[in-house]
Amino acid sequence: MSNDTIFGKIIRREIPADIVYEDDEVLGFRDLNPQAPVHVLFIPKQPIATLDAARTQDAELLGKVLLAAASYAREEGLSEDGYRTVINCNEHGGQTVYHLHVHLLGGRRMQWPPG
Ligand code: IMP
Repeated sequence: MSNDTIFGKIIRREIPADIVYEDDEVLGFRDLNPQAPVHVLFIPKQPIATLDAARTQDAELLGKVLLAAASYAREEGLSEDGYRTVINCNEHGGQTVYHLHVHLLGGRRMQWPPG
């Protein structure tokens, strides 16, 4: 599979992950190297390499990924204090895994601008 990554292995249960959210199209699992008390990655099961590679036909799926993150944040009680969602794109954006993912970070006050 040309666009397979470590996240593809997580989707296929070939490597372990702490999965906290799943539906037909979206998976959410805890980041291996958390940057906040809550740090969960939400991914489309159908891989899209980067936000730059996303196309109009991906709009509904991307919306579902974002709404899954928001729903999980509500369930975790993060809504009132707030939280951050991040999509890194390509090298200067800090992307290291080329399967589009939304970072959900919460449980502490975030700084701005990010590094
Ligand atoms: P990026 O830098 O925006 O591409 O984010 C990739 C994220 O994936 C980083 O925060 C890593 O800590 C995380 N990560 C890499 N491999 C794994 C894994 O096997 N399980 C969970 N998180 C991972």
